[in-house]
Amino acid sequence: MMFRYVLAACLALTLSAQGYAQEALPPVHDHAAEADYKDGEAALREALMRTQNVGPAKNIILFIGDGMGVNSVTAGRILAGQKRGLDGASYRLSFETLPSSGLSKTYSADRLVTDSANGISAIMTGVKTLNGAIGVDARITGGRCSGTAEARLETLAETAKRTGRSAGVVTTAGVTDATPAGAYGHTPSRTWRADSDMPAEAVQNGCVDLARQLVEAPVSLRLDVAMGGDLEKFLPVSDPRKGERADNRDLVHEWLNQGPKTAFASDLAGLERTRPDTTDRLLGLFSRGDLPSPVDPGHVGVPSLDQMTAKAIAILSHNPKGYFLMVESGSIDKWHHVNNAYRALTDVDELSKAVQVAMNMTDPRDTLIVVTADHSHGLILSGYESRDAPVLGLAEINGTLVTDQGGRPYTILSYATGPGAHRDASAGLTQAQATSPDFHQPALVYSDSAKHAGEDVPIYAVGPQAHLLTGTHESSYIYQVMAYAFGFKASLQPRQDGK
Ligand SMILES: [Zn+2]
Repeated sequence: MMFRYVLAACLALTLSAQGYAQEALPPVHDHAAEADYKDGEAALREALMRTQNVGPAKNIILFIGDGMGVNSVTAGRILAGQKRGLDGASYRLSFETLPSSGLSKTYSADRLVTDSANGISAIMTGVKTLNGAIGVDARITGGRCSGTAEARLETLAETAKRTGRSAGVVTTAGVTDATPAGAYGHTPSRTWRADSDMPAEAVQNGCVDLARQLVEAPVSLRLDVAMGGDLEKFLPVSDPRKGERADNRDLVHEWLNQGPKTAFASDLAGLERTRPDTTDRLLGLFSRGDLPSPVDPGHVGVPSLDQMTAKAIAILSHNPKGYFLMVESGSIDKWHHVNNAYRALTDVDELSKAVQVAMNMTDPRDTLIVVTADHSHGLILSGYESRDAPVLGLAEINGTLVTDQGGRPYTILSYATGPGAHRDASAGLTQAQATSPDFHQPALVYSDSAKHAGEDVPIYAVGPQAHLLTGTHESSYIYQVMAYAFGFKASLQPRQDGK
């Protein structure tokens, strides 16, 4: 055996010696003058200058790109760059400039692929639970209220409140949707959003709908700011705005009666009128259901994610002890579900703008910003097209469409599952059709609504303890880092004497 290794080594030495000895080396190109090389060197220089911030976090802002897997980030950055007339491939979204990044494993207690309820619950409580459940552990029986009280877990937003900080949630979905409910909700079923959604068993066993949980939480735990859609979940059925509350309660009215410096806004003008210096508590409900896409005319008069984020930070910053804020782009997920990459990726850019606002308004010395996703979607970018090909459209090389084995053009983006499978994929498609806002990318497996995808999702972070969010971790680990940064895990602090 030993002889064989020695023989192989001798042969290799002889060959390499011959190769270099007998031929002149090719001239060396001065690669140090290349832009890629210079950019890489500048990035290395920046990385070498970086120091770890091991101090406590006064504030934490958690951004969730719902359904924003790595491919959504890649395709989202290309679209964001191309929209600005720049090279999409090398464009950087705001959160891609953050110094620390890692990967999160998102599976739930019972499923390989998570939904948004367990997805956020793991991040907000440190415990994975069943798909569909929020703020409770996996001992619950899915969809049944019985046993929920025993399984209740405090969320990071609630711990922040209980220990003197302020807390809020902002979303482009409804405020009772699964992800925002992860800040304040405790339920075995994410579908119990208004009382009219509750089955008899849930009512008999004392479970409460999410809209009521948001407004009725004990003062010591209650959120100070909540903004998004879902107005109908807060209004009585008798309300002309088509409320859904069978108990005939007006929760907007009840919110306004809960104390001084309390405000409600129902549109952009109302949000702009809300003065942060005289407001401590704000409920903003800007539409029925989810907020409309910025692509659509319905968005006029509705605040964008960065506008809501700016107002939330301005109000929560009053508290000298700090705050916790969750900001969700729920729309990335909603549009992926219908294979509409145009709107889904536009919302990746919207999330990037909101993160930029938070970076501008806070100090990385005392504010931990985390950007991640609760799960991925089955979006794929493929095809060898030219670097400047429109990412939402058909694959082309130097302006000429590329075709598949059957001679048909194909799209750069496609999905694993979804409604896009229910038609003859790319037959006769033109570039104009494929790049239109209402185009639905093709999918492999037909489904009314695309299924979530199960691969790991990215985490980006800056600020106190951000360096702990590198490597590959369980989604529930993100909770641990945030809780540690807030000082809730003093017993885990390394001793100064190194023992
Ligand atoms: Zn979803």
